[in-house]
Amino acid sequence: MAKLRALNPRVQTLKASRVQQIEGTKRISGNSLYAIMRRFERTHPRICAECRRRGLVGFGDELDHIIPLHLGGKESDSNRQWLCREHHAEKTAREASGRAGMLRGKGASEVAGPGRL
Ligand SMILES: [Zn+2]
Repeated sequence: MAKLRALNPRVQTLKASRVQQIEGTKRISGNSLYAIMRRFERTHPRICAECRRRGLVGFGDELDHIIPLHLGGKESDSNRQWLCREHHAEKTAREASGRAGMLRGKGASEVAGPGRL
């Protein structure tokens, strides 16, 4: 039987500085997120921002970052909005495809920004 030889690695490890740039602001989750949601809903009625833009009224099921964290959006109320599940899923999918494009070397201009769902 032929002896297996180790292959030379062709993929280099990512530099830590580059990883930070891709990840952006750290995401809040769990109990901290629920505390933020409870506080935020006192001043911001749970109405989907995208439904409202379309002249509809949809329940704001989920808290969304208007500017995604990986694009430098902050964990602050000025960067939060309520979205219904459907519109949050749409926006997240669009952002994910934009993020994949970014990682392939396309610019961030293709990623949905505020007011452009
Ligand atoms: Zn909606």
